[in-house]
Amino acid sequence: MKIDIASKTLEELKNEFAEAGEKPFRAGQVFSWLHKKNATSFEEMSDISKNLRSFLSEKYIIYSCAIEKKLKSEYDGSIKYLFKLNDGEYIESVLMKYKYGYTVCVSTQVGCKMGCNFCATAQGGFQRNLLPSEILSQIYVIQKDTDIRVSHVVLMGMGEPLDNYENVLRFLELVNSPDGNNLSMRNISLSTCGIVPKIYDLAEKKLQLTLSVSLHAPDDDIRSGMMPVNKAYPIAELIKACKYYIKLTSRRISFEYAMVNGVNDSDECANMLSKLLKGMLCHVNLIPVNNVVENSYSKSSAKRIEAFSRILEKHGITTTVRRSLGSDIDASCGQLRRRVTSGKEEQS
Ligand code: SAH
Repeated sequence: MKIDIASKTLEELKNEFAEAGEKPFRAGQVFSWLHKKNATSFEEMSDISKNLRSFLSEKYIIYSCAIEKKLKSEYDGSIKYLFKLNDGEYIESVLMKYKYGYTVCVSTQVGCKMGCNFCATAQGGFQRNLLPSEILSQIYVIQKDTDIRVSHVVLMGMGEPLDNYENVLRFLELVNSPDGNNLSMRNISLSTCGIVPKIYDLAEKKLQLTLSVSLHAPDDDIRSGMMPVNKAYPIAELIKACKYYIKLTSRRISFEYAMVNGVNDSDECANMLSKLLKGMLCHVNLIPVNNVVENSYSKSSAKRIEAFSRILEKHGITTTVRRSLGSDIDASCGQLRRRVTSGKEEQS
């Protein structure tokens, strides 16, 4: 079986080249073709000798996403990509434009095991983890397709990043590599539904990325009803892990809170949430829940969200309401893939 070359660090490539009798500096050239120039084939590597290129294509493979479908939002210009992987699986990524630059929201798994009942990805079940190179490729293919330099990355697409921990860490190392794509850790957000032991592990790495925690409820009753993961790692344990994370990294945590009408959006919930987060270095991001065909949830009204946010602010917790980008293109995680793989695409 061929080796996944774009998941290798530069050090590893240098060693493998040396072992094969190739000059180690060639590894730097190849690494740069993969991670700076976003090459998707060895033929593109024009300053590499033919001999070396044929050695490469015998031993290695470049995993790259193929653009299966592209939808551009009429409202805000964000672009949603449906990608096909080498084995025929589909994943989604979204390119969004903000004042400070371009952000790509990447997937980390095909499907997801976590089963959050408001999430479109969960409905399709879990297929497999993505390789580091397949997470990178989403960014590279979008950069090549649009001729845009992506400045920010959020791991908020399909999948649970901390359930694919080793590959996600390697992705982070590679995307941050000064010899490669060189994207600052500070411009990366990793979003988790709250896999507590992995939050502790990640804290030890002391990375400068932003940790987003999908909290969505102020107590175990409501949260367990929305997110099965809460039964394994209840709120008290999650908050303890978050406090440890903040202590080790000195980084502010961003709590995501999807506002669902009549479920988690009362004044009482806001008061409970304020108490829970009191004194923490954190920020709350309120998101009007996106409707997913399979569930009966509806968005809280703008007025309700505003009242909820005022209570948090009164308790000294900074709050934003997330701008909903790409609402006309099924930008919400997992929606497009779901339509394609369940054969419903033509109907809507
Ligand atoms: N598994 C990770 C990252 C992927 S989901 C996590 O749970 O954080 C990215 C974010 O989108 C999470 O905050 C998730 O809770 C939220 N999300 C999923 N479906 C949603 C929906 N229908 N409406 C609003 N937010 C949603």
